[in-house]
Amino acid sequence: MSEFDGTVAIVTGGASGIGLATAKQLAAAGATVAVLDLNPDGLPAELHGFVADVSDRASVIAAVAAVGEAFGRIDILINNAGISAVGTVEENDDDEWARVLDINVIGMARMSAAVLPWLRKSPAAAIVNLCSVAALNGLPRRAAYGASKGAVLALTLGMATDHVREGIRVNCVSPGTVSTPFVDRMVAKFDDPVKERAALDARQATGRMVTPEEVAGAILYLASPLSKSTTGTALEVDGGLHNLRVRPLSS
Ligand code: NAD
Repeated sequence: MSEFDGTVAIVTGGASGIGLATAKQLAAAGATVAVLDLNPDGLPAELHGFVADVSDRASVIAAVAAVGEAFGRIDILINNAGISAVGTVEENDDDEWARVLDINVIGMARMSAAVLPWLRKSPAAAIVNLCSVAALNGLPRRAAYGASKGAVLALTLGMATDHVREGIRVNCVSPGTVSTPFVDRMVAKFDDPVKERAALDARQATGRMVTPEEVAGAILYLASPLSKSTTGTALEVDGGLHNLRVRPLSS
């Protein structure tokens, strides 16, 4: 028996990277898992795919209704879908800013609003948002991305406050750089992708990127029905990036 037995979880962006690792761990722990993604093709058999675009309210409402109809309840929402952005304020135009904030921030608000009526009926309701060390650390050429994750941190605290008396917990995880297709696409935008990847490894105090499975473990802790007193927190899974000041490996 696991504390997740009988629960139904939604993972947005669950077809790749951190979302896929989380969906698999939730399913292995006994949850019924719905993956909402732009393209949920090719998922492992234990996961249930639903097409959804978190930047489109009608698509979100339809997908959440389909999950509710298929499984009769929704207990856990993992707001994971997100996109990267590279650039300074001079390099990103208005369209890029709007796209990043629409998917990374408003996407979480749309999903949460659609799922809340189901969460109110759950005895173990939890939302986990994907934040980032970029919320509280100035990272080079991540102006729009960092701003979006700063907003996710504030959104997490606001939602946790609004819904605590309804028995709904809201937390976020703040990963460092995680080795996923998201990072592969991001380093490809640099003149020397190999050098950029090595710099990302070196930026972690541990000297290596975080794995998707390590982030998933933290998400499961926050989503667990056993974590009833944990709400309004940001759990760092960042190889020490935020708090540790280690010397470079060569010195
Ligand atoms: P990824 O690119 O591997 O996967 C993202 C998934 O989201 C994909 O399956 C994609 O199809 C889906 N998606 C994108 N836009 C969508 C939309 N509009 N509607 C529905 N689905 C959509 O990314 P990842 O590295 O696993 O990142 C997942 C989350 O973790 C993001 O919110 C990201 O900001 C955050 N994060 C990532 C890192 C990192 O270094 N990889 C670090 C900190 C935080």
